Amino acid sequence: MKIAVVGAGISGLRTAMLLEQAGHEVTVIEARNRLGGRLWTAEPSEGTLYEAGGEWIDGDHVRCLALLSHFGMEPITPPDGPSLLYFGGESVYEDEPWSSALEDMVRIEAEAKLRCRELLDPVWRTVKRKEWDEIILDDFFRENSSSSSGYWYVKARFRSDEGDDPDRVGLMGWLSGYNLYLDRESDLMSSYKFPGGVSRLIEAMASSLTSEVRLRCPVTRITSKDEAVLVECDGKVESFDRCVVTLPPAALERIVFEPALRPEMRCAIEATPLSRTIKIALRFQSKWWLRRGWGGRMLSDNNLQQTWDGTLGENPILMMYVCGDTAENWNQLDDPVRAAVHELSQQFPEASDEFIEGWHHDWVRDPWSHGGFSYRPPGYVFGHLQHIAAAHHRVHFGGEHTAKWYGFIEGALESAERVTEEITRSAE
Ligand SMILES: Cc1cc2nc3c(=O)[nH]c(=O)nc-3n(C[C@H](O)[C@H](O)[C@H](O)COP(=O)(O)OP(=O)(O)OC[C@H]3O[C@@H](n4cnc5c(N)ncnc54)[C@H](O)[C@@H]3O)c2cc1C
Repeated sequence: MKIAVVGAGISGLRTAMLLEQAGHEVTVIEARNRLGGRLWTAEPSEGTLYEAGGEWIDGDHVRCLALLSHFGMEPITPPDGPSLLYFGGESVYEDEPWSSALEDMVRIEAEAKLRCRELLDPVWRTVKRKEWDEIILDDFFRENSSSSSGYWYVKARFRSDEGDDPDRVGLMGWLSGYNLYLDRESDLMSSYKFPGGVSRLIEAMASSLTSEVRLRCPVTRITSKDEAVLVECDGKVESFDRCVVTLPPAALERIVFEPALRPEMRCAIEATPLSRTIKIALRFQSKWWLRRGWGGRMLSDNNLQQTWDGTLGENPILMMYVCGDTAENWNQLDDPVRAAVHELSQQFPEASDEFIEGWHHDWVRDPWSHGGFSYRPPGYVFGHLQHIAAAHHRVHFGGEHTAKWYGFIEGALESAERVTEEITRSAE
């Protein structure tokens, strides 16, 4: 079959690889002037390299690790060194947190695990616990914590996974993701990074294709007519047997579908939020944090929220990753980079002396993603989840937001497998 894959993020590229392997003729169509979508290794100058989008691989993200291995790449482990927790003007090492915070974390994880045991697959079949879908994650954290440090710690740890504030996230949606962690025997979160940056993997994927990959080609209309799917881009229309659309929900909303998508699917797309997530990369003369006996990784209750050593090239980079309302506030500032250095230097005065240059990546206003990654708000699991990826007149839908591993690179890869299977089955 002749198949169009719309979107050259990792889900689109992986779908193209799998469809080619299955013997189909594929064309990949991408709006940006680069590949990778929300995965992009920025290289602003020689020796300065950092991940502007997705960066971490969890230890059990098997698809992602297998893909690296397929291209002969070894995942790298992040720079070592103790992590800090900074709360209420006091800092401690994360492996020796305040006992009250640790107790709250243990209690909340135990409660979450208990609830996960009741979840069915797919999760929207768990109708006897429908009320959990109306509970706000923040309330669940608050009700199950006994100290302010514990409530903050749990929020801070899980906020980065969801990419937004827990008062926007639904308990059932969060449990559906947390459920995937149950078999973990140790902390596998953020175990690895991409060697030389994720863009190397993206390039390897694109080079392995025989398919044509078209850049700067925003698709505006998709029409299913008789046995064909007509894909329109820049006023030109091309006919395919099938089309796979891997766009984030807000980008998907801008495509005109004929016949129109079913109302349940339109509502599901509208109801799928992408996190308010930004990254600020700061370049320093040296890794001053190591001289402090600190590895660069920190969760804090100030505007920095989360930092880590994001160095990929020769030049030292400290990465800031900020979510939710605080991310919105950073985006309003005239000079978010300077503000970040200022905030950091309140805690570590040497930061301002050592600072050289920095970069701010506002994913909220990115024209082709409109946010970081998907999360599941209250009411989403029972209201919308089962409709988000329904095929429509020979058009199939992928992308991280359609996967069990939603929000992750692993989810984008999972969706590529599901879509390929869907097409193979429907062609039989
Ligand atoms: C700041 C940030 C940090 C993250 N951190 C992590 C992390 O540490 N670990 C992790 O696993 N995940 C992380 N993620 C999430 C991860 O990056 C995404 O889940 C994944 O990259 C999504 O891939 P995708 O192919 O589904 O979507 P995308 O990468 O968004 O690909 C969709 C493509 O469609 C294109 N497009 C949009 N509109 C059109 C159109 N009209 N016509 C044609 N093309 C169009 C877009 O330009 C894009 O290239 C992070 C994301 C961000 C933003």
